[in-house]
Formats: sequence, structure tokens, C-alpha cells
Amino acid sequence: MTMMSSVVSAYNAFLDFLYPPECVICHTPGTFLCADCLATIEPITEPKCAVCGYPLPHSDASCPQCRRYPVEALDGVRSVALFHSGVLREAIHKFKYENMEILGKSLAPLLTTCYTINQMKAQVIVPVPLHTSRHKQRGYNQSAVLADYMAAELNLPVDTVSLVRQRRTKPQMSLSAAQRQLNVADAFVCRTGTISGKAVLLIDDVCTTGATLDACAAALKRAGALSVNALTLARAE
Ligand SMILES: [Zn+2]
Ligand SMILES: [Zn+2]
Repeated sequence: MTMMSSVVSAYNAFLDFLYPPECVICHTPGTFLCADCLATIEPITEPKCAVCGYPLPHSDASCPQCRRYPVEALDGVRSVALFHSGVLREAIHKFKYENMEILGKSLAPLLTTCYTINQMKAQVIVPVPLHTSRHKQRGYNQSAVLADYMAAELNLPVDTVSLVRQRRTKPQMSLSAAQRQLNVADAFVCRTGTISGKAVLLIDDVCTTGATLDACAAALKRAGALSVNALTLARAE
């Protein structure tokens, strides 16, 4: 152990002493999201839409939503579970809005498992960026936190520099499907050439209609990305 890492682990042990971890859902001591609560999250299984990954009664090349609002640049989306799943919804809310950045450590392995099960192949991980004003307000980008933990597990590089949200957008949840595409059109730009020729994995916490992910994919492809697939914790219904 190096001097620095022993200092860090001593500091972490001190924090655990001051604030002993307990499950944010059921308050069982030990971890921030206990195994019993994690086990209640029902992963999306086959059959599903080949494009957006939404569960369907039969396997299909695309679902009604994808036929009505076809994605332009995104190659595909996969999500861990539907958003209605109680524990996942509550954990994401605490992760994003209650300053519980630490939950990223418990949630990221769900993404890594989903990546492996769906046999996704990426060369670089790119988190969906926040606008700088939102980033300052929250103190961290929840998607970048997830991307960092995943990248460490999968031994892949993370790029948090190239893709930029150049204007503020309204929350997608509050808009109709048609408004969502307009809301994020040209909201993102890819500023560097390092993405060129790469298979990109986009990471976000929730996929609503896929419009945000598609707008990111369009910017990445304009910068030469070979393919852009997305992975999210939750999928809205
Ligand atoms: Zn629990
Ligand atoms: Zn679909």
C-alpha cells in the first residue's frame, strides 16, 4: 500500500466511524444499499425492443414508440430496470437530489451486469453531461459518477471532456414526446477529435424517451464516433 492510499483508507475508515453506512431504503447498517433491497430490483429481460430495449410481449425489431419517433443517431439503448421499480426509483432520487453521491458505488455494478448480459462492446465510456450551471449547483454529475465506477470495473477509459451540454434544457419528464426532441435538439456538442472512430457507450441514470441520448449520439457521430450505444439505470414507462 502506498503512503497516499493508506491515508485515503484511514480517512475512509474515519468517515465510516463518524457516519456508519446504513441502507438508504431500509436502514439496515453495513452498506448504503443493502443486498435485500438491491434484490427487489427486477431487471428487464427478453423479449424487448431491439432498438430501445423496452420490454415487449414478443421480440421485435422496434416498438411502437421507436416506430413513431425513430432515433436518428443512437444505435441502441439498454436499461437495468423499469423506473416504477420502487427501490431503484428511490435510490436514484437520493443519488441525484439528496447529495448522496456515494450511492453511485452501489448502483454502478447494476450497469456493469447489464452491459455484460447484453454483450455490449465499447472502447470509451461517455457520461451524459450536465449543463455547467446544474453541475455547479449539484456539485457532481451523477452520470459521470456511475461512468467512473463502471470504467474501473470494466477497465475502459472515461471521457468527460469531449461531450458538452451547451445550453440548459427543461426536464424531459415534464414534456410530451414531440416537445422532448425539440427541447434537446442541438443542446450537445462534441468538442474534441478523440471520439473519432470509437465505439462509444453513453451512460445516464434514466432514459425517458431516448431523445436526450439520441441528441448526444448525434453530436458524438458528427465528431466521428463509429457507434453509440446507451446504458441507463432506469427506463421510464
Ligand atoms: Zn435495504
Ligand atoms: Zn423501442
